[in-house]
Amino acid sequence: MSKKRIGIFGSTGSIGRQALEVIEAHPALFEVEVLTAQSNDALLIEQALKHRPNAVVIGDETKYAAVKDVLFDQGIKVFAGPSAMVEVAAWDSIDLFLSAIVGFAGLAPTLSALEQGTPVALANKETLVVAGDIVMATARKKNVPLIPVDSEHSAIFQCLQGEPLSKVEKVILTASGGPFLGKKTNFLINVKKDHALQHPNWSMGAKISIDSATLMNKGLEMIEAKWLFGLHADQIEVIIHPQSIIHSMVQFADGSIKAQMGLPDMKLPIQYAMGYPDRLVNEFPRFSFKNYPSLTFEQPDVKTFRNLAIAMEALRKGGNAACVMNAANEEVVNAFLKNRIGFLQMTEVIEETMAKVPFVEKPTLQQYYQADTAARDHAAELIHSLT
Ligand code: NAD
Ligand code: MG
Repeated sequence: MSKKRIGIFGSTGSIGRQALEVIEAHPALFEVEVLTAQSNDALLIEQALKHRPNAVVIGDETKYAAVKDVLFDQGIKVFAGPSAMVEVAAWDSIDLFLSAIVGFAGLAPTLSALEQGTPVALANKETLVVAGDIVMATARKKNVPLIPVDSEHSAIFQCLQGEPLSKVEKVILTASGGPFLGKKTNFLINVKKDHALQHPNWSMGAKISIDSATLMNKGLEMIEAKWLFGLHADQIEVIIHPQSIIHSMVQFADGSIKAQMGLPDMKLPIQYAMGYPDRLVNEFPRFSFKNYPSLTFEQPDVKTFRNLAIAMEALRKGGNAACVMNAANEEVVNAFLKNRIGFLQMTEVIEETMAKVPFVEKPTLQQYYQADTAARDHAAELIHSLT
């Protein structure tokens, strides 16, 4: 059997680096076809020298010469800029496209891969939050699988193997609750980025870590679940499960619930998506009930963590609402990471932006792009007025 050639878009990030570890552990199954990074040229070069891809793309054009100087002599093609990323995403030499770029920037390359008919392993949840209808329709049109990497959606996907979607009553997304579980507004008003970046169970990129602290991540994941599994808003529930052992659940038409469990380690869902439909052997540490005498559950506090309530509203509203919310969220998370605004101000800016940007019921791709830009401009103004 020939090796699966993987294109890792966002290889220098948390997901990308772990995907390379999975590839390294299974050299007979996988090889690297393409690696991309936005600005970390040193790591991109190091990864390319080790994994010998056919090509790399660096998003930041000012880094092109630095990358090319090292890799060209090694026979590795080097490209730069966002449009190169979209072009290379469409290469038919890629057998599996791993969408591991963070944020809206992942949408165009992911759509480009799907348009080409390349199977996609999707970590970049924002792609579905922004334009889920168009992304899913493209995958259906080209008859290509879209395999979730996000641990909750991987759990649901695994629970659904051998089950018809028509027999799903609801899905139950588990949430760790993040670093501020149980805290109230009077505490949250003062939290700073260093604390917010300390996730109890997972080590992840900065943006998703902040989203986990505000519970926006779970809201984005509800919208992601809607599109991936074709669900209505009232079929998607969230439950806080601080141990992060049950990664999510599906309840079927007979009331039976299936759960997928394991230690919290993103390499597991990454490996599952890369190996799918096969389940690959690994040496990862195993879960033991001895170390977890109790698994606990509680309701999310949407009054304190209002981002989750906002996302539920966007999920119900449909149209461009989630796209606008996502753009405002990306702006406020950036501002919070630069210590420009406070933790709770993030929610205020998102809400105000959503109230201002015109609602479109059935946007075209271009209208999604317009909504993204309008929301970013508006959020940036609001952030400016707060600083
Ligand atoms: P990260 O910040 O660690 O890495 C992001 C990657 O995207 C980097 O390689 C970076 O170079 C690249 N990138 C950033 N901006 C870009 C741009 N404008 N154009 C092109 N490339 C760009 O992020 P991460 O934690 O690895 O998350 C990646 C995606 O996976 C996110 O959508 C996140 O929500 C999702 N996800 C991550 C985890 C996790 O454990 N880290 C879990 C579930 C889902
Ligand atoms: Mg997740």
